[in-house]
Amino acid sequence: MKADTWEVRRNRILRRAGYKCEECGAKDGQPHPVTRLPVALTVIHLQDTKDDQDENLKALCQSCRAQHTARMRRKRELAAGQMELGAEE
Ligand SMILES: [Zn+2]
Repeated sequence: MKADTWEVRRNRILRRAGYKCEECGAKDGQPHPVTRLPVALTVIHLQDTKDDQDENLKALCQSCRAQHTARMRRKRELAAGQMELGAEE
């Protein structure tokens, strides 16, 4: 089975999302309901892995993406902290 290119996958996810942010529903190319900035949807990985399955991909606007990134970072930091705790035992 030939793997899709990122571009193909990305387009499929955007189509699945109806060209709207899957978190807040902001429409691609339209002013964002909160920030008023033109929405440019991006496709992100839900889990912090290289898993490119459609279930692990989501179309998000800039502000939802920023929140998602912050969440991911916190999760990573937490995981790193737990590993350090484990090493002390
Ligand atoms: Zn959004």
